[in-house]
Amino acid sequence: MRVYDSLVDLMGNTPLVRLHKVTAGVPAQVLAKVEYFNPGGSVKDRIAVRMIEAAEKSGELRPGGVIVEPTSGNTGVGLAIVAQRKGYRCLFVVPDKVAQDKISVLRAYGAEVVVCPTAVSPDHPDSYYSVSDRLAREVPNAWKPDQYSNVNNPDSHYHSTGPEVWEQTEGRVTHFVAGIGTGGTISGTGRYLKEISDGRVKIIGADPEGSVYSGGSGRPYLVEGVGEDIWPATYDTEVCDEIIAVSDKESFNMTRRLAREEGLLVGGSCGMAVVAALRVAAKAAPDDVVVVLLPDGGRGYLSKIFNDDWMADYGFLTTSSDEGLVGDVL
Ligand code: PMP
Repeated sequence: MRVYDSLVDLMGNTPLVRLHKVTAGVPAQVLAKVEYFNPGGSVKDRIAVRMIEAAEKSGELRPGGVIVEPTSGNTGVGLAIVAQRKGYRCLFVVPDKVAQDKISVLRAYGAEVVVCPTAVSPDHPDSYYSVSDRLAREVPNAWKPDQYSNVNNPDSHYHSTGPEVWEQTEGRVTHFVAGIGTGGTISGTGRYLKEISDGRVKIIGADPEGSVYSGGSGRPYLVEGVGEDIWPATYDTEVCDEIIAVSDKESFNMTRRLAREEGLLVGGSCGMAVVAALRVAAKAAPDDVVVVLLPDGGRGYLSKIFNDDWMADYGFLTTSSDEGLVGDVL
């Protein structure tokens, strides 16, 4: 029988899909690594399985253990799927800017979720960092993967995403573009691609305007899952050749175009990464191959990015004459 023993066996090995319309007028080809094909619907399945299996090996996670993690949702889903298979409980802490739909998904998988305010500093006792630390100390048999410091986060990309991009492009990739949240994706994938290409592949980080990676102070932005107000250990500050800052407005309008023009219903950090990828591709040579990683699907954002009223309230809605122009984002 052609059967998978578990969903865990289906994590990773996502497809590369060529972008056609949003790339009009751009010389290089732009290929999207579509991470919503993972069983949990996001790139974070990759780190979930590697972090849990490493903790089992080291003895940090024991039978009957409780996984406590601050997560914007996607890491939670990946952890919940792997945890279910292996018999662990999940207790997640999320900031209140995360879409309600995403929180409902975590609860649907059987996880317990604590919601904390976004508008407090990271060292405030109510911040989602502080609350998760407290729970990890107080809950018996708790283990905190800590995707912001766990070396298995970037390592999962070094061992899966990086080799996949290299093999899928038959070594022709010239640029790799990804958003930076924990920095795991860009650090692990970037390190692999640099090593295997002797430094030829350029690594470009995409960052929300205001986040620390592109020189900001952590000023609030609305795109979810990327940008930071602190520098996490999982981000390798040496890996990026360039970091491109992208506004919420540009990110969200590109996210909407990806659904309408490419059939890719994806999240806001995907639109952000594509804006950066198009800027790179616009300056690249015709035989260059730009790979951009799209971390998750768009269903968790229907009431925000894909809702005209929400977009208009923030002044993000562009007039139809603005749309369809690559020049809009260059
Ligand atoms: N986009 C989304 C929607 C995410 O959840 C994340 C993870 N925080 C990222 C992008 C960034 O990935 P990384 O943490 O590997 O930098």
